Amino acid sequence: MKELRIATSLDEALALVADGYQPVAGGTDLVVAARGGKSELPDHVVAIDRLTELSEIDSSDGGLQIGATVSHARLMRDESVIDGFTALADAAALVGSPATRNVGTIGGNVMNASPAMDTGSPLMVLDSEIVLRSVGGERRVPVSDFWTGPGQTVSQPDELCIAVAMPDLPSESGSAYVRLEYRRAMEIAVVGAGAVVSLNPEGDGRVVGVSLALTAVAPTIIAVGGIADALIGRAIDESALADVAALAGDQASPISDLRASDDYRRHTVGVMARRAVEAASRRAAGASIPVPVNRSVGIGAVT
Ligand SMILES: Cc1cc2nc3c(=O)[nH]c(=O)nc-3n(C[C@H](O)[C@H](O)[C@H](O)COP(=O)(O)OP(=O)(O)OC[C@H]3O[C@@H](n4cnc5c(N)ncnc54)[C@H](O)[C@@H]3O)c2cc1C
Repeated sequence: MKELRIATSLDEALALVADGYQPVAGGTDLVVAARGGKSELPDHVVAIDRLTELSEIDSSDGGLQIGATVSHARLMRDESVIDGFTALADAAALVGSPATRNVGTIGGNVMNASPAMDTGSPLMVLDSEIVLRSVGGERRVPVSDFWTGPGQTVSQPDELCIAVAMPDLPSESGSAYVRLEYRRAMEIAVVGAGAVVSLNPEGDGRVVGVSLALTAVAPTIIAVGGIADALIGRAIDESALADVAALAGDQASPISDLRASDDYRRHTVGVMARRAVEAASRRAAGASIPVPVNRSVGIGAVT
């Protein structure tokens, strides 16, 4: 017999998870997959969506700590996310439909560990940590070590994701997330890219820091190696953007499926990468590009 418990405190949820209950937040992956016949609902499920302990966005200690049950709809509108961690707002604004965004959570997105998850590249370039807690204590895992394959993470079955945390960016920094989508809603990323660019505070337009991550071109979200060596000290011009596209395409190892061939993904992830770097550098220079970038520049832009 299936059993659903509704946790009313974090301690209760942790105790149930330690007893083998599987958490459900918005249910837009877990329940939708079961309804669609892709997987069985677990026998013992604990709902964590009412836990106020997991629903805060907190910047009081510097950086940002986002509770696991914060919805995509909240992320895309939250001023602290838009101002300081814009790529995450770009990503949240693209998830599914308004209904999906209203109930789908950042914790669910992270723990579901799809290689096409939209918050993944932003979390990677923003140098985030996943905060895990069990009855035995708490640990933080850098996001770069967290996903180990499609649907797989280093978390243990008795651990809950309670938050994601990220440090403040240096001054003169901007971030952006862009994805290729064939239509504007109810679509998952064909490919995507997130970037952070930091510019020289002296105002000469030269890059002093950069990171780039790719979505849906490997078994997990991947960080692009060598991007800092390629861009630091340069201005973001056509030649730099061509190098960004080449690096991204070289490091992608996409699959072919009914949505795109591997060659098409390798090419278009380069286009998304250069677009993400360009938008991030424009934001770093003070330009106001509304969230999400996808609706502001390039494919799907509202003109
Ligand atoms: C129509 C539709 C469109 C979608 N479009 C997109 C899209 O564009 N981009 C995208 O990235 N995703 C998309 N998704 C997937 C989904 O909406 C997101 O991944 C969402 O963030 C999942 O959050 P949730 O709270 O609903 O997760 P749930 O379904 O509640 O949980 C997902 C998994 O994570 C586990 N889990 C949840 N919370 C925790 C926690 N705090 N600690 C430990 N484990 C936890 C659950 O046990 C389960 O295994 C879409 C889904 C649907 C149905």
